[in-house]
Amino acid sequence: MSMLLIRNAQVHAPEPLGRLDLLIGAGRILAMAERLEPGLPVTVLDAQDAIACPGYVDSLVHLTGGGGEGGFATRTAALDPADAIAAGVTTLIGALGTDDVTRSHADLLAAARALAVHGLSGYVLTGSYRVPARTLTGSVRDDLVLVPDIIGVGEVAIADHRGSHPSVQELARLAADARVGAMLAGKRGTVLVHVGDGEEALDLLHAVVDRHPLPAAQFHPTHLNRNARLLQRARGWIERGGSVDLTASTTPALISAGDIPAARALAGLLAEGLPVSRISISSDAQGSLPHFDAQGRLLQLEAAPVSSLHAAVRSAVLEHGVPLRMALATVTETPAAIWGLERKGRLRPGGDADLLLLDPHSLELRATIAGGIAHAVRE
Ligand code: ZN
Repeated sequence: MSMLLIRNAQVHAPEPLGRLDLLIGAGRILAMAERLEPGLPVTVLDAQDAIACPGYVDSLVHLTGGGGEGGFATRTAALDPADAIAAGVTTLIGALGTDDVTRSHADLLAAARALAVHGLSGYVLTGSYRVPARTLTGSVRDDLVLVPDIIGVGEVAIADHRGSHPSVQELARLAADARVGAMLAGKRGTVLVHVGDGEEALDLLHAVVDRHPLPAAQFHPTHLNRNARLLQRARGWIERGGSVDLTASTTPALISAGDIPAARALAGLLAEGLPVSRISISSDAQGSLPHFDAQGRLLQLEAAPVSSLHAAVRSAVLEHGVPLRMALATVTETPAAIWGLERKGRLRPGGDADLLLLDPHSLELRATIAGGIAHAVRE
């Protein structure tokens, strides 16, 4: 594979670094400077002042499909890797959901590893909605220690009628297994927590951190923009050291039922002075989005699109006035740090060559470069 030289890019690392050239080889960013003359045969791509930013790190993707809450016919399809490339998502963290019976971690692991042929990076969470957790090897700790691609646990459901209603003790033990397994393997071992619309909201997480010597940062609760009441709880969780995740995929019906679009929720949290280093956005891709008729009967389930992540970034910047570097951080630097992915989420020499070229005005995606492989270049 020859080296790729990207010229004249407005680099957002995600913070703006000005107009630079980037040299890419062997799947890494080799150099970034105002003018690079490598003196070797390279493929040159003139970015023509497009924005270059890190490829997106999506904290929740149902790689092998999700859903099934309305019977077998409502299971959603697996993710098509072409959709991730077209949406600028270069790092995908795969999880099971409600269904850990017909869906398995072995299947998830295979789907994550299959992404590599496109240059995409796939990781897997062990466990599912349920506690005690379903796992690959029989224990959360063994999964984290022995399987390189397994980087955390989730999504574990709380405050949801589809969850298993774990006790404080049960959730603490799960988090402790994740923490110790991750320590032994040099990982972060974050526990992604699906928060439903139950009144108790984040009470269980606060109780775990109150009663046990576990840091709030061990947990990353998601779907916090599912209603205003839950979103208001984000501040209290962040103030005690935690982080929160917002879900980009939604529907007009969900919005009229109280769902707050991720871009608007992000703008609100930032306006309150909450740090962008504790706020991520994920797509929940291939999860199920229900459609109801006027009488509230379930008509069908649609799969959440992975493209919702980039749509949320554009909406945050273009419609809600969020600075670009902050909108980008929620889908790059922040999730990479939360999951302990050191070569992801930033454009820097030595980092993985996962980057996007965006139109500087419309922020439309022109190209996705994943693991050094250039895709979907448009004029
Ligand atoms: Zn969920």
